Amino acid sequence: MDEKRKIVFNQETDEDQVYSLSLRPSCVSEFVGQNDVINNLQVSIQAAKQRAEPIEHMLFSGPPGLGKTSLANIVAHEMGARITVTSGPAIDRAGDLIGILTNLEVGDILFIDEIHRLSKVVEEFLYPAMENFKIDFTVDKGPYAKTINFNLKPFTLIGATTRSGLLSSPLRDRFGIFYHLEFYAPEELAEIVMRSAKKLNVIIDQSSAVEISRRARGTPRIANRLLRRVRDYVQVKTLNSEITEKIVGEAMQTLRIDQSGLDDIDRKLLGVIHDNYRGGPVGIETLAATLNEEVDTLVDVIEPYLLKIGFLKRTPRGRELTDVSIKHIKGASCPDLPQKS
Ligand code: ADP
Repeated sequence: MDEKRKIVFNQETDEDQVYSLSLRPSCVSEFVGQNDVINNLQVSIQAAKQRAEPIEHMLFSGPPGLGKTSLANIVAHEMGARITVTSGPAIDRAGDLIGILTNLEVGDILFIDEIHRLSKVVEEFLYPAMENFKIDFTVDKGPYAKTINFNLKPFTLIGATTRSGLLSSPLRDRFGIFYHLEFYAPEELAEIVMRSAKKLNVIIDQSSAVEISRRARGTPRIANRLLRRVRDYVQVKTLNSEITEKIVGEAMQTLRIDQSGLDDIDRKLLGVIHDNYRGGPVGIETLAATLNEEVDTLVDVIEPYLLKIGFLKRTPRGRELTDVSIKHIKGASCPDLPQKS
């Protein structure tokens, strides 16, 4: 993927991983926003603790970078439990899952990211494990085949998914608690930026944090990433290390991220619909071919934010621009960007 694209891309990059330990909220009080989820979660945690039982299996859904992994770690922290972290694609064979499950102690948490990507065979092993903490597996083949029943220690499974619609209903039904995370409001993102700045020893004022958060596409991961880019910029380009609104504006110009958080690829997509297809509707395949991008990249990575901020409409006949996006293309709402050479 293009280096610049990675800045506003909401999947975790290697650099995010390096910072995830220092910037990830570790307890409920450090987790900003998602108030309904947090309030309900606190009740569940307290109730489980009072009963001295593991908390029920839970599923977090929502776009990447909104805090699903952070919440799983917070639940473990609040419950005083150990957490084992894995992901759907990492569990290739049922044997891998059996290994993980049989190593869990009472009250441990097993976090499976991208749980919708578990294979069918592996998923079927999870059902009895989740339901009554048992697994049955067959050893040997043919006439010597034997089924062994294995009792597991009571544990909690926390699943995370960006596509809850892809989860099979038997799996979904086995979760007692289900939370959907929403995109964050700019003021919540500004608070996250202020907190992260403190952890990174960066000096920033509230209005600069707001400037960063406006461009963060509703996503804490992107807000933190933009803060780190502005930190680099201020360190290299100025004599003092204080981030101001002006500095944020300059840094964003060099990254070519405009005031709505759009980058060159977003603008190219909108521009193509405007110039080549008179504002749409245009089918996603045609659009992908014109832009020389994969359909999946358009649907999973580029489109969701444009749809969310009302820059794009999805109709049965294809994608269409809206009045706001047409205004944006004509430059009315992004006067700070230089033309690309
Ligand atoms: P997901 O698992 O949904 O992809 P993560 O939990 O990995 O998202 O969050 C990405 C990063 O964003 C975290 O490392 C953390 O720094 C930050 N973050 C996410 N949600 C919050 C929040 N509510 N408050 C503070 N920081 C957050």
